[in-house]
Amino acid sequence: MAQHHHHQEPVCTHLDQIQSVTPSAQGCEECLKMGDTWVHLRMCHVCGHVGCCDSSKNTHATKHFHATQHAIMQSFQPGEDWGYCFVDQLMLDPSVFAGK
Ligand SMILES: [Zn+2]
Ligand SMILES: [Zn+2]
Ligand SMILES: [Zn+2]
Repeated sequence: MAQHHHHQEPVCTHLDQIQSVTPSAQGCEECLKMGDTWVHLRMCHVCGHVGCCDSSKNTHATKHFHATQHAIMQSFQPGEDWGYCFVDQLMLDPSVFAGK
């Protein structure tokens, strides 16, 4: 029998990791060092590391999360300001970065 629980949005519990950051580079840090290319850029909102997205062959943004456990990133593409939590696998509203 179906139970009708009150619908609750999944909530990210890592917002306290968010810091005011300066982008570490204007491209993927590691790809620039390797002379490689990327598809899209993501910036870690804990330390400012700029890495490439999961559509890029080197997936440096995700590798950065696995290496550091920094959970929160924001798109670093021009005109994009959405965020993402790697732990909760949740898209984050840009308002979570307001005032940071
Ligand atoms: Zn989270
Ligand atoms: Zn990269
Ligand atoms: Zn980081």
